[in-house]
Amino acid sequence: MMEKSFVDTAVSENLQYIEETIHTACAQASRKRDDVTLLAVTKTVPPERINAAIQLGIRTIGENRVQEFMDKQDSLLLDQADVHLIGHLQTNKVRRIVGNVQMIESVDSLRLATAISRCSQERGLVTPVLVEVNIGGEAAKSGVSPDMLEELLGNMHELRGLHVCGLMTVPPIFEKEREKRQVFSKMYQLFIDIRDKKLDNIDMQVLSMGMSGDYREAILEGATLVRIGSALFGKRQ
Ligand SMILES: *Cc1c(COP(=O)(O)O)cnc(C)c1O
Repeated sequence: MMEKSFVDTAVSENLQYIEETIHTACAQASRKRDDVTLLAVTKTVPPERINAAIQLGIRTIGENRVQEFMDKQDSLLLDQADVHLIGHLQTNKVRRIVGNVQMIESVDSLRLATAISRCSQERGLVTPVLVEVNIGGEAAKSGVSPDMLEELLGNMHELRGLHVCGLMTVPPIFEKEREKRQVFSKMYQLFIDIRDKKLDNIDMQVLSMGMSGDYREAILEGATLVRIGSALFGKRQ
């Protein structure tokens, strides 16, 4: 049987533009294209369009909500793409997500980390996670404050069943290029400082930052993973 084919011209053209932008930013920063992962943010996007993106070569997708992901899961070509959970995760939903995604990017408390650790151990798994940092100190955003990051990592490194692979952030929205780069640079510095401390069981390989409006600046400042939604799939309702 031939695999069903999903064609989407708009997604194809958007992806081409995004790829060019990533290439140019990598070249400008003397980085290799392969050092940056493009994650397609698929919240509110129907499965056919997500599958079209996967057939165009997207290998990582990101979902925000546990329930939405569960509803779409069976319709997706998940033998060809990894899934990251990028939205806030409630402790009581951990059981539904551990083992069903390849990474949880939004760990921001010891309580959540402990729940992931327990559930992963019960299932004989090690769950890769990122710690979400609230780099702009915004009250409405989740994420641990930069001041508390080291303490959280210090408490997390003993937890079995999870592996800290790096950091994630959703910074404030800035208009000016200089401001965008400044906040990403601050985040990169934090990433490097922690990496240099070589904490046990804490790896700093992934720095997830940059969205549709600022992924170019994020790559210039050291992002290894950019999360792109609307620039790829169009405006969300
Ligand atoms: C929605 C979302 C994105 C993508 O936003 P766009 O501006 O549409 O690219 C990235 N990261 C997180 C955590 C999101 O919730």
